[in-house]
Amino acid sequence: RTFADLGLAEPLLRSLHEAGYATPTPIQAKAIPHLLDDHDLIGIAQTGTGKTAAFALPILQHLSEDLVRPPAKGVRALVLAPTRELALQISESVARLSKNLKLRHTVIFGGVGQKPQADALARGIDILVATPGRLIDLMNQGLVRLDTVTHLVLDEADRMLDMGFIRDVKKIIAKLPDQRQSMLFSATMPTEVAKLARDMLWEPMRVEV
Ligand code: AMP
Repeated sequence: RTFADLGLAEPLLRSLHEAGYATPTPIQAKAIPHLLDDHDLIGIAQTGTGKTAAFALPILQHLSEDLVRPPAKGVRALVLAPTRELALQISESVARLSKNLKLRHTVIFGGVGQKPQADALARGIDILVATPGRLIDLMNQGLVRLDTVTHLVLDEADRMLDMGFIRDVKKIIAKLPDQRQSMLFSATMPTEVAKLARDMLWEPMRVEV
């Protein structure tokens, strides 16, 4: 199977070629068709399997097909990651894969000044990658709005739980519209993660690699 077989559009195929991604990894081959079909998804996969592109490509395709201008401070796709390091990695993948699209993306995390992050958010963002703590801080100050979100990703949900972010994550999800596409990725599926998946996903497809 090729990326074109999975249903991805020309600008994304070009980005993939430029990134040197010749063929889909197993998680990409399994997840992308479900996600392009608008299903929610549980992905059981470790880092290194290509899970980032598995969720990023369908989101980029959806957002570029429905090219609306996000309102001031509004976000269209939200990706939550447990650590700054992972958030940065995801952000780099999004930058690489969205090179040929007209979408705005940014990444926010704690431990650095919030002014540049708030400025980036002010005009509206298509894809926001964030760690939960800093996102809550910005939400509490009215510097970001999430009622415009159409796509949600919770990455490394098991680590999110281990690091004590579960309350923040639930607080963030409570601000999102019910009508959205959601996906949860986790290397393991302990009871607590399964419970979170039940709460945040609607009739999810399940893929495992
Ligand atoms: P991830 O599991 O998303 O962190 O990806 C692991 C690594 O695999 C990253 O360095 C990606 O750039 C790379 N990668 C992801 N998908 C592919 C692909 N289809 N072909 C080649 N490399 C890939």
